[in-house]
Amino acid sequence: MTGTGTGVAAHRSLASLTAARLEKTVSADAVRHNLAVLRAAAGGRRIMPVLKGDGYGLGAPAVAGLLLESGVGALAVDTVAEGAALREHGIGVPVLVMDVDVAGNAEACARYRLMAAVAGPEQIGRHEAVARRRAEPVTVWLRTNVGFNRFGPREERDFDTVLDRLHRARAAVRVAGVFAHLSSSAADARETAEQAAAFRSRVARARAVLGRHLAASLAATHGLLHPPALHGTDWVRPGIGLYGLLQPSSRDLPGWADSGLGRLRPAVTVRARVLDLVTVTRAEGLGYDRTAAVAPGRRLATVAIGFSRGLRGPAPAFTGLLHGRNCPMAGRPGMDCAQFDVTDVPGARPGDWMTLLGRERAGGLPERTAQDVSAELGLSLYELLAALRMPVRLESGPRPEPTATD
Ligand SMILES: *Cc1c(COP(=O)(O)O)cnc(C)c1O
Repeated sequence: MTGTGTGVAAHRSLASLTAARLEKTVSADAVRHNLAVLRAAAGGRRIMPVLKGDGYGLGAPAVAGLLLESGVGALAVDTVAEGAALREHGIGVPVLVMDVDVAGNAEACARYRLMAAVAGPEQIGRHEAVARRRAEPVTVWLRTNVGFNRFGPREERDFDTVLDRLHRARAAVRVAGVFAHLSSSAADARETAEQAAAFRSRVARARAVLGRHLAASLAATHGLLHPPALHGTDWVRPGIGLYGLLQPSSRDLPGWADSGLGRLRPAVTVRARVLDLVTVTRAEGLGYDRTAAVAPGRRLATVAIGFSRGLRGPAPAFTGLLHGRNCPMAGRPGMDCAQFDVTDVPGARPGDWMTLLGRERAGGLPERTAQDVSAELGLSLYELLAALRMPVRLESGPRPEPTATD
């Protein structure tokens, strides 16, 4: 026995013990395909994929590696810690930290050569102080608020104060670009057009004060459904689209048909093993306090996913796929397992994989779509991806020839 109990080797084998029970898989082919679809929709703009939340729970370093192989030239995350993790994995491309982080992380932001988002004067001051202390300028992006209302002042006059502060800090703080986040691009074309107009006017003022070189970025995935709104922007920041997911409301937008986003392909599958099969013989209910009623004669599979992995309940409409059939969840999930009614699947056996998201096999039907699963669990698509926590396997087909680069 070598490596037992010693550092990395033990750690790997512990992870494989969990991966034997449940896993998320990400199809590298689907992510590459989706990147190509997003590039086509971006109409020549450069792509800065968003890998916040550990790449939407899919493993930021692994997904980053795949994207860089496909010619991506910059990445975005939410926090300094996430950007630092990419650097620790040897990723050297420019990385934008989109959310304002705490003041105490400004030094690490510079040390890891991450581009901070600054939205107000105090944040500019903190990055300026770090740059002076290190005797080396820092590069930032200016985040402006055109209605998302999470960071930065909303009003025009306050935006001008921010520009003025950046102008005064210009020896220490270089501004690479201006960006904003749209609040309703998955659902509302009119509001998106208004926010885009406000953004364009702020970009023009920022360029007048800070220089023509400033890049502009407005769209995330759903922003690509509004081509006129992207006029004059240089970068798009897609996240969820890389995994082939879109908010259901997008299909009702006027830009849907021409966007090409209907070609996106779901990239994520979640599966967990059947641990045991229990035939109900008494009308006494399941689990704690026997609250979930199940009729005698029903056969239940106990499956290796529970609330410690993000599966919440009760969710009466939630099902898992086993041998091509939808099997409803019974009762509430436990810490590490949940039960599904498999009475109609006589061939169910311990060790079978139950599919909770995606298809049982490529091209197979039925499919558990992310839209259905998130609705059944009462989560948004974003929450669903990030909430389900388990080992991730990147399924890589043969590596294609490099095509476009950004
Ligand atoms: C999350 C996020 C994105 C990416 O959004 P998707 O809808 O996943 O494409 C882009 N920009 C900002 C500021 C974000 O917070």
